[in-house]
Amino acid sequence: MELEFPGNTYAELRNSVEKFASGYDTADPLNASAFALRKEWQSEDDGTQYRIKDGYGALIAYLEEECKAAGGAIVFNSAVRLIKWQQGKVQAITDDGTMYEAEQVIIAMPLGVLKAAEGEKGAVTFDPSLPEQSKALQAMGFGAIIKILMEFDDIFWEDQYTEQLAGKSLKTMGFILSDQPIPTWWTQAPEHSTVLTGWLGGPAALEKKDTTEEDILRLSLQSLAKIFSRDPLWLKDKLVAFAVVNWTNKPYTRGSYAYDTVNISASRQLLNQSVHNTIFFAGEYLYEGTAMGTVEAALTSGKGVAEQIIDL
Ligand SMILES: Cc1cc2nc3c(=O)[nH]c(=O)nc-3n(C[C@H](O)[C@H](O)[C@H](O)COP(=O)(O)OP(=O)(O)OC[C@H]3O[C@@H](n4cnc5c(N)ncnc54)[C@H](O)[C@@H]3O)c2cc1C
Repeated sequence: MELEFPGNTYAELRNSVEKFASGYDTADPLNASAFALRKEWQSEDDGTQYRIKDGYGALIAYLEEECKAAGGAIVFNSAVRLIKWQQGKVQAITDDGTMYEAEQVIIAMPLGVLKAAEGEKGAVTFDPSLPEQSKALQAMGFGAIIKILMEFDDIFWEDQYTEQLAGKSLKTMGFILSDQPIPTWWTQAPEHSTVLTGWLGGPAALEKKDTTEEDILRLSLQSLAKIFSRDPLWLKDKLVAFAVVNWTNKPYTRGSYAYDTVNISASRQLLNQSVHNTIFFAGEYLYEGTAMGTVEAALTSGKGVAEQIIDL
């Protein structure tokens, strides 16, 4: 950006691109591929809301039922730490020493976990090791995110004080983009809900990965207080419940979702090929289309791998 769009003339453009790349794509703007971001942003479907009414839990419940109906078993709370393999034979060994055997394995862990150093919680070791795949995984970008949910005792942003302040009614407000420490917020519009969701993405989220929940709450109240010209204590009194979801410091997630770094296609190509028809990688980070970093991306990748295995 500095190189292609230098100086004061482009300062605003640079600022808005950097904010969007880190805020929405949760990427490190210094590392992200400008072409990939351009491709994604140009295919944005502005205005349409795809929010699932019962949340993504409804989708997972459907998949779980389908899996069980087809004879599958789902084992929860069981972290794999070692994959021993040879062509046509895999042993997956979990933290508690349980071993599962199969002819093939699909590695569907988040990219953040696959990039974690050996020995870190959640990290998985391959025996024999996969140096090429490992290098390809390390070359891919994985974003950082902290999400905050805040429920208030009323929809204060729809009251008269805020309307006067904004000079218009905020009853249909969807997103708030600001320069505050927690910069992005959204409502549940078109529903009139008392919940506001806060979002801190990219390098700023990585920097605050070890910040305590109390401090994130404090920053959230301060940010909203500034945005709505209110007293933080007044807002705190109105708070009914809150949750801070720090995806970046969770050992089995270690971030948000992938973003394209420069020259990433070789890595993706390699990882989209099986290792001797035995080890298959699947996940949102292996998706090639324009809906990167989404559930759709993960489902597309998973379906593709399932089809590859069926065709063996
Ligand atoms: C805050 C946030 C908001 C998002 N919002 C949206 C949205 O609005 N719309 C959208 O489409 N997408 C959204 N996404 C992206 C979406 O959640 C991901 O793209 C999708 O979940 C990726 O699916 P996946 O199967 O590749 O990986 P995951 O869903 O991350 O699944 C990987 C699984 O592997 C498990 N795992 C990790 N380590 C181990 C181990 N050692 N052993 C066994 N299991 C392990 C993890 O616990 C996890 O269950 C959001 C992501 C975040 C973080």
